[in-house]
Amino acid sequence: MPQTLFTNVHVFDGVNEQRMENASVLVEGNLIKSVSTDAIDAPNATVIDGGGRTLTPGFIELHAHLMLMGPTLPAMEANTTWEDFAIHGARMAEMYLMQGFTTVRDAGGANGGLRRAIDAGQIDGPRYFPSGAFIGTRGGHADFANFTAPPGSETNMSRLNLAQEISGVDDVYKFARNNFRMGATQLKFMQSGGVVSAFDPWQLLAGSPEEIRAAVQVANEYGSYVMAHSYRKEAILSALEAGVMSIEHGFSFDCEIAQVMNEKGAYITTNLTAFDPGLLDIPAVANVPSSLAKAKSASATFAGYIDNMKECPVKRGFQTDCVGSVEACNIQIAYEKKHLNNEFFGPYTSMVTLTSTGGEVVALSGDFMNPYSAGKLGVIEEGAYADILLIDGNPLEDFSVVGTGDQWFGADPRPDSPETIRLIMKDGVIYKNTLE
Ligand SMILES: [Zn+2]
Repeated sequence: MPQTLFTNVHVFDGVNEQRMENASVLVEGNLIKSVSTDAIDAPNATVIDGGGRTLTPGFIELHAHLMLMGPTLPAMEANTTWEDFAIHGARMAEMYLMQGFTTVRDAGGANGGLRRAIDAGQIDGPRYFPSGAFIGTRGGHADFANFTAPPGSETNMSRLNLAQEISGVDDVYKFARNNFRMGATQLKFMQSGGVVSAFDPWQLLAGSPEEIRAAVQVANEYGSYVMAHSYRKEAILSALEAGVMSIEHGFSFDCEIAQVMNEKGAYITTNLTAFDPGLLDIPAVANVPSSLAKAKSASATFAGYIDNMKECPVKRGFQTDCVGSVEACNIQIAYEKKHLNNEFFGPYTSMVTLTSTGGEVVALSGDFMNPYSAGKLGVIEEGAYADILLIDGNPLEDFSVVGTGDQWFGADPRPDSPETIRLIMKDGVIYKNTLE
């Protein structure tokens, strides 16, 4: 099997705050074979001199929507064909990989086809964990139907299995099982509402306990888990009670929730762009009085989020939740890295969030549904997958080297790949190398 030997690198292993200084990392095939501060003897390996740079695990995005190009939910319902979704998904996959993300979990709207194309080498992209169709109630956050469409109407999104409307546990069983059949690795349940969407107050408590438990039951049939879009405290607690393992957004997070999460071993993913004051200025919010009112009430309720999370820490993963053009999502990802993670939580916590915590979350998809179960993701250790970045400088001291952005709305387009990320390897294959 081909070997690659990285020498003269400082290793951030995804977990420890101290880098392993002056180390070598040997990759064999698609796995890491050894990590050592002693010289590694590998006479047949291709040697890459890291020149004192930092070697880190590839980044992990836990909440993307690679298929959803926007500009609005009604526009996607009305005008978008399967070709549009597929082309957008392929371009998003390539963008994510070149931004240093070697793994992406999709939080709704994508089935197994994109992963098949990536894993077969037909297009470049990260390892991919799709959720199949969003599962949500009538009037909930995944209801894309036109305003006058009767309940249960077929939609563009339901035909393509991007979103399914449920009414009762039988619908949950039907669509949840269909998601796994179509290549999902976990399920996504829409509990709370949203700010920009049309029909749903953000405080919505959608899905009966029976319906959420039905989703968890189907996920467990497949050895996998459920992620839930939950804002309100009652929503988060009922999701955890039902066995949901991944709370998405969780904006009403407090120390009582933290205690339940830690008891159950559950995770939260945070898209901190939701706390950006600039959000109130985006046209989709500013020009729609009902959305503006929702945004203001949400920001008031969620004011304690960051402080609560610092006071009562839980396992927290990185998410961007971008719906929009590839160029806009590239900007949003860079901004989420900086403004949100680094400025609120500091570089070390942000690096853990981007790497090992993400690896733990995607591994919850279990032995049967995890398409990448031969090694760990998000860490640099013996036996882990060879998903590796070589970065100029030390991200634990200067976080900007991971490719951060200072501005969100109105920002200039970002480069296809950050200059400071000099090498990107996924599954033992090098996709970028500017060291030579
Ligand atoms: Zn989302």
